[in-house]
Amino acid sequence: MEKRFAGKVAIVTGGSRGIGEAIVRRLASEGARVYATFNSNEEKAKAIQDELTNDGFSVRFLRVEITSEQSVKELVDEVIKEVGRVDVLVNNAGITRDTLLMRMSEKDWDDVLDTNLKGAFLCCKAVCRTMMSQRKGKIINIGSIVGINGNPGQVNYCSSKAGIIGLTKSLAKELASRNILVNCIAPGYVETDMTEKLTEEQRNAFATMIPLKRAAQAEEIASVVAFFMSDDANYVTGQVLSVDGGLAM
Ligand code: NDP
Repeated sequence: MEKRFAGKVAIVTGGSRGIGEAIVRRLASEGARVYATFNSNEEKAKAIQDELTNDGFSVRFLRVEITSEQSVKELVDEVIKEVGRVDVLVNNAGITRDTLLMRMSEKDWDDVLDTNLKGAFLCCKAVCRTMMSQRKGKIINIGSIVGINGNPGQVNYCSSKAGIIGLTKSLAKELASRNILVNCIAPGYVETDMTEKLTEEQRNAFATMIPLKRAAQAEEIASVVAFFMSDDANYVTGQVLSVDGGLAM
């Protein structure tokens, strides 16, 4: 693959599975030096790191608790110590705790908002100063189309993803004068561990509603991350791009 990202340093949160893993593989294969995070899946993270390193790519996984300012700071400090810069941050780590509002506990709400929205806020804050002094940087947030359309049983998750859109647009305005571009990708239904929890019936219902009549593969989200990271997207900021097979039209 063409080494478009040679010399670029990228941080990818939640790189140990699903969409994050596909992003790590894609950016590394295009030459980026990737710092990826895992939380509980150390074995999987190590296996990905070993495989990609053996293939000649630059990938290092670090354990991060995305809801902790201290843990996020340690991650970014480590990257700066090693390579002195951060070109791209991909805020991908996320969770669901689905249930109807009537049954949703305060913890279900807090866990999802803390991981999906506060986690992205903490990562943006931690890389911001470095990107500002570089006068260059890109932040790519992974939202969801349900942050635009809403979804029953996901009041917490949809609120967190709607928040990601607000964060994206506000930060894009705050940082544009420093040449830091902030965008959001809103995937539809992607086949990962997260959607594995759905019943066969729910999956079929989704597939029927999607104009392209199929779920996305994680690689199809990763390729859009690569687009935002590339110089082809150097005049794009504050945007939300749905990558959903037409579901949210
Ligand atoms: P997965 O459940 O497959 O992976 C989630 C990732 O987030 C894992 O790497 C996990 O690390 C990490 N993570 C979870 N909690 C924490 C935490 N507290 N601190 C640090 N890392 C954490 O998710 P997907 O790949 O499906 O989703 C990735 C992103 O895409 C999410 O933001 C999700 O909301 C979004 N998305 C997904 C869609 C889908 O259909 N799958 C649709 C739309 C958006 P570990 O495994 O090491 O614990």
